[in-house]
Amino acid sequence: MYDLIIIGGGPAGLTAAIYAARGGLKTVVIEAMMPGGQAAATEKIDNYPGFAEGISGFELTSSFYKQAMNQGAEFIFEAVARMDLSGNIKAVHTGQQTLEAKAVIIAAGSKPRALGAKGEDIFHGRGVSYCATCDGAFFKDKKVAVVGGGNPALEEGLYLTKFASEVIIINRRDQFKAAQIAVEKAQNNPKVKFILDTAVEEIQGQDKVEKLLLLNVKTQVRTELPVDGIFIYMGTQPNTKFAAGYVKTDEKGYIITDELLRTNVEGVYAAGDIRNTPLRQVATAVGDGALAAVQIEKYLSS
Ligand SMILES: Cc1cc2nc3c(=O)[nH]c(=O)nc-3n(C[C@H](O)[C@H](O)[C@H](O)COP(=O)(O)OP(=O)(O)OC[C@H]3O[C@@H](n4cnc5c(N)ncnc54)[C@H](O)[C@@H]3O)c2cc1C
Repeated sequence: MYDLIIIGGGPAGLTAAIYAARGGLKTVVIEAMMPGGQAAATEKIDNYPGFAEGISGFELTSSFYKQAMNQGAEFIFEAVARMDLSGNIKAVHTGQQTLEAKAVIIAAGSKPRALGAKGEDIFHGRGVSYCATCDGAFFKDKKVAVVGGGNPALEEGLYLTKFASEVIIINRRDQFKAAQIAVEKAQNNPKVKFILDTAVEEIQGQDKVEKLLLLNVKTQVRTELPVDGIFIYMGTQPNTKFAAGYVKTDEKGYIITDELLRTNVEGVYAAGDIRNTPLRQVATAVGDGALAAVQIEKYLSS
């Protein structure tokens, strides 16, 4: 029996683990993949305080993980499949085992949203990627497209210029939602080209990606773009499949909490990207993790 089960070992879950274990709670983190979450796969994080020159996401989150273990948090590397939250004792089931605790923090974050273009599934892993840090090096001296208009598209597009001979950023609109500094950096990089007002309709090739079918949404003109790869940054969607029906979510599937990060189920809290919050960043996930753990300490002692 644990005091606290934390589902997800990203920045929110790892911070909650540091605070909870340090506060004397018997704490276990259940993580489906590897510690660090989305942040671990981010090439460079420039906006997390304390690192004036920026830091690699992997290095930052490896340090969170080590700190959580040093404080005594336990880790289980399995995926949570379902939960039983009805009683005072909460049960969390993975495919292999059932764990029980007096409280739960759901910090399972989010995952990339699919583009929805024809061929996206077929070529996933064969030229279609959602992670430049993971797959960028496969595209040395190749031509790649990046789809999206936010910070991740521009920042990861710039990262890809380390490897690719040409990076074409395709955006459905004629404006970017990204920070101006990211837009300017991309505009000033000779390897980066832009195709605006354009949607990717289809990804085509034989064994791997060879070209994209594009539609200019203003002129309705269709063109083909030969590329070796396509990196998709269309935002994220919450990992709430295992939690559906147990806790209240908004229409997009993000868990609804109050300002103390309580869900509608007593003893169950949510932290980080998975909850309905106006900002999804490492700094906010870390803040959520700390707050949820401290609230649970209070909840358990009362
Ligand atoms: C390309 C990209 C670039 C980014 N750049 C920045 C940046 O520069 N600065 C910044 O501050 N933020 C950045 N972010 C956002 C930042 O990474 C997230 O806000 C942060 O990682 C959220 O932390 P989290 O712990 O809430 O969730 P996540 O990081 O998503 O971690 C959730 C964890 O839960 C695990 N999990 C999911 N489902 C289950 C399950 N069923 N069972 C067990 N475990 C499960 C996942 O494997 C994952 O490890 C970026 C994100 C992306 C995608």
